[in-house]
Amino acid sequence: MKRTTIVLGGGIVGISSALSLQERGHSVIVVDRKAPGRETSYGNAGLIQREAVEPYPLPRDPSELIQHAFGLSPAVHYHWRALPTILPKLIAYWRASTPARHAQISKEWATLIENSTSEHAQWIEQANAQELVTPKGFRFAWRQEHSFKAGVERAKRLQQTFGVQFRALGTDELLHEEPAITQRFVGAVHWTEPWAVSDPGELVSRYAALFAQRGGLIVQGDALSLQQTTNGWSVMTQDGLHEASDAIVALGPWADDALRPLGYHFPLFVKRGYHKHYQVERQLSMPLLCADDGVMLAPMRAGLRITTGAELTLRDAPATPVQLKMAERVAARALKIGKPVEDTAWLGARPCTPDMKPIIGAAPRHRGLWFNFGHAHQGFTLGPASARLLADMFDGKTPYINPAPFTAKRFDEVKQ
Ligand SMILES: Cc1cc2nc3c(=O)[nH]c(=O)nc-3n(C[C@H](O)[C@H](O)[C@H](O)COP(=O)(O)OP(=O)(O)OC[C@H]3O[C@@H](n4cnc5c(N)ncnc54)[C@H](O)[C@@H]3O)c2cc1C
Repeated sequence: MKRTTIVLGGGIVGISSALSLQERGHSVIVVDRKAPGRETSYGNAGLIQREAVEPYPLPRDPSELIQHAFGLSPAVHYHWRALPTILPKLIAYWRASTPARHAQISKEWATLIENSTSEHAQWIEQANAQELVTPKGFRFAWRQEHSFKAGVERAKRLQQTFGVQFRALGTDELLHEEPAITQRFVGAVHWTEPWAVSDPGELVSRYAALFAQRGGLIVQGDALSLQQTTNGWSVMTQDGLHEASDAIVALGPWADDALRPLGYHFPLFVKRGYHKHYQVERQLSMPLLCADDGVMLAPMRAGLRITTGAELTLRDAPATPVQLKMAERVAARALKIGKPVEDTAWLGARPCTPDMKPIIGAAPRHRGLWFNFGHAHQGFTLGPASARLLADMFDGKTPYINPAPFTAKRFDEVKQ
């Protein structure tokens, strides 16, 4: 049966969900307070990460933990004042990061990742966005011998376990293949299957334009006006009240704002990240992760985008771009970088859950309410793959992958 649906959130996850449901004949309205793809889905590193078959665990190595605790690495920065609020979630994240649990979580998570490029491919083609996408992979490069060795060992393990493809490169091979690099890295791993997008926000806009061309409605409105009605759900927008039988919460780092009034208290938290663009004389041919420092250098239409690792604090805390300063120094060693393109750094928040997996599927306690959020470091990668899973469940079809690992029930507890 064809239904009407309100999708709350026009990031990569919301727009992909809208496209999937529209393709199956449902009538869909996307509600966002901004234009599509202007928040987290705009500011990421633009990678469709087919190699990311393991989500990021919380480090358990004491030396790494000390580095992070004292803010010595651009990879992670803790705001100690936020700890009382985020500590319970970090403890749950720590527990999920034991080698045994992480291995199990990775098996489940990989079922989505394995479909990431193929699910993007159809929308890229139909949205006529091929010129934004370079399907040549990306590289991790190391400046320390021991970390390079460990990186290659990990790549071999991922190849054996998940079939992920890579090539290991020595110092000279890397410099030969990527002449923009000015640093003598010990070596690199070239993951050959991921795709790089030169303007991730624009890719979401193209997907949104495709959705609109096919009759989809995109309206400005506040997701927090969501109300349950006798026949389903309603939301107030700039062009009035919209009603539908179903509603999908795809609000990324803001999901909690809409869920709490409905009585859902999921242990969500964010890992914030910064970026800034820089002019470069010679652009990289594909993104480069300075892997010892967790700094990603991504060639974009706007310049070289330097993105930072994780800042663990409250979503709305004031910006403290100390990691970007460190990342600039890492980038200046690796490449010849020029002036920044913008004065102010972009700040965004990766929407995270303690077990590293998104929440996809039916709301446990409300008819016609659906969830699709919490994609953490790989939401840009996973938008279309998780949208397909949601659409299968929405239609009552046999889901194309096992949905159980992503169910909201794993976190649902009723608070009085
Ligand atoms: C620095 C950085 C680098 C990253 N690099 C990568 C990468 O290379 N590859 C990758 O796969 N992922 C990457 N990510 C993660 C990825 O960007 C996110 O997981 C993904 O964008 C989340 O998408 P989303 O649609 O869930 O959220 P969003 O894109 O944030 O969309 C949520 C939408 O909800 C809307 N909204 C919020 N509140 C309301 C409200 N009250 N009313 C109406 N609308 C509302 C917002 O305006 C927004 O459009 C990175 C993230 C960061 C921060």
